[in-house]
Amino acid sequence: MVDSLSKSERSYRMSLIRGSDTKPEVTLRKLLYSQGFRYRKNVAGMPGRPDIVLSKYKTAVFVHGCFWHNHRGCKIANFPKTNSEFWKAKFDTNIKRDRRNARALRMAGWRVLVVWECDLTPIGRAVRTAKKIGIQIRRPAR
Ligand SMILES: [Zn+2]
Repeated sequence: MVDSLSKSERSYRMSLIRGSDTKPEVTLRKLLYSQGFRYRKNVAGMPGRPDIVLSKYKTAVFVHGCFWHNHRGCKIANFPKTNSEFWKAKFDTNIKRDRRNARALRMAGWRVLVVWECDLTPIGRAVRTAKKIGIQIRRPAR
């Protein structure tokens, strides 16, 4: 069989298949759980399938991988030096989709919080991030 996918395309597809339980999300979920929050995860039928959904607080949390969501100014989100047209198109698509999903959720009355992967390692940093997120979740909606 002819392998028609480039290496980068293949690893991109693999990452889509692996999908849901990536490590930063698990870390944040555990930390929020330990603060007493209860949530649903990867809720289908909500725009963008938010990673963590706290219905009681009408809050949806996305954990964004710095690379895939092209975190600006982030060390681990280094823009690939080869095949840059391919990557630029991928990132643009991802960013547009993120914005569209966040807008749809806000229109439906949800608070949308985004947590970047780089704020969830090492664990000390993750604990601080989760505390901040906990405060934002509990803050009354305007
Ligand atoms: Zn980052």
